[in-house]
Amino acid sequence: MRRTGYSIKSLVSPNIRNLKAYSAKEIPCKVKLDANESPYSAFSVQRSAFSVEKIFQTLNRYPDSEAKALKKIISKNLRLTPENILFGNGSDELIYYLITVFGGPVLYPVPTFSMYGIISQALGEKRIEVPLDDEFDLDTDRILPLIKKEKPGIIFLSSPNNPTGNCFSADRILKIVESTSLVVIDEAYQPFSSEKGFLPMLNDYKNLVILRTLSKIGFAGLRVGFMIADREIINEVNKVRLPFNINSLSQAAAAALLQNTHTIKLHMGLITSERERLLNELWKLRGIKPYPSEANFILFKVKNSDKIYCRLLKKGVLVRNMRGTVNECLRVTVGTKKENNIFIKALKEVMK
Ligand SMILES: *Cc1c(COP(=O)(O)O)cnc(C)c1O
Repeated sequence: MRRTGYSIKSLVSPNIRNLKAYSAKEIPCKVKLDANESPYSAFSVQRSAFSVEKIFQTLNRYPDSEAKALKKIISKNLRLTPENILFGNGSDELIYYLITVFGGPVLYPVPTFSMYGIISQALGEKRIEVPLDDEFDLDTDRILPLIKKEKPGIIFLSSPNNPTGNCFSADRILKIVESTSLVVIDEAYQPFSSEKGFLPMLNDYKNLVILRTLSKIGFAGLRVGFMIADREIINEVNKVRLPFNINSLSQAAAAALLQNTHTIKLHMGLITSERERLLNELWKLRGIKPYPSEANFILFKVKNSDKIYCRLLKKGVLVRNMRGTVNECLRVTVGTKKENNIFIKALKEVMK
């Protein structure tokens, strides 16, 4: 085909044509509090548990397609059976697979994690977005009739919810799980929550899927997420999974790092106690309305949020501007004590 008078766009599926690529561009800053990552990277593992040299020697071979060693460690840590676990290259990939397998309509509350909507669009599935109520809880009065009417193939509930930070009330979640749709509870932030989560409910509900990830507990760079569900669901999703989706380096590193449960727990404790301190500090500031959080970030309302966002960045502090998702709101990730102090100091200055 000649280059002139010819447009690739016309070959692209209509649902992709209007999609924008997810922008995760790096914004230079001194204190990075925009992506809900863990601030802790220095991590020790036993020498015997991980040797780069040894892994390099096996890189001519494909990785273990089922990541068996890693599966064993996670199933032991969470007291699950390995057959109920499936890995994704981040939980994002599993969201892709789940929507591919179960199809639309795809129902989720808003505001929530953007990938549910983006991936539904990419796959050409109908989206049903139901606003959360005034307390950022599930509006079951609207959701339950919609489930009856629209019969969604899949429902996504992020609890704790990103970007609002709260857990949805358990009784409302259960009312939705009682439906016949596939219900995915995305527990990316469960390690920071005071609530017990829904792993114990897996025995009672066949249509329930729990999503977890290593991204928020210190290992975002590894790209390892996993789902826990009934064997039958795992088998169906496994049909569309790309055979070697978790690379050898990630498998080995995750397996070694997750042995160090003591350090991970320590970091989770530091983050949740810093979260409470940060929340207190934010409460004290005039013109700021922080929302309570069960996650590793805090959403707060502030007038002229665009301006405040830019002024913070000028001082080297990067937070997430929620414009277009939750108006007049910024989302700040809980960092180290030092980072949080820099953030608070900068916020006080830019509020003047
Ligand atoms: C960050 C996040 C994820 C994690 O995605 P990964 O692909 O595992 O990094 C999943 N769900 C929610 C709600 C998130 O905020």
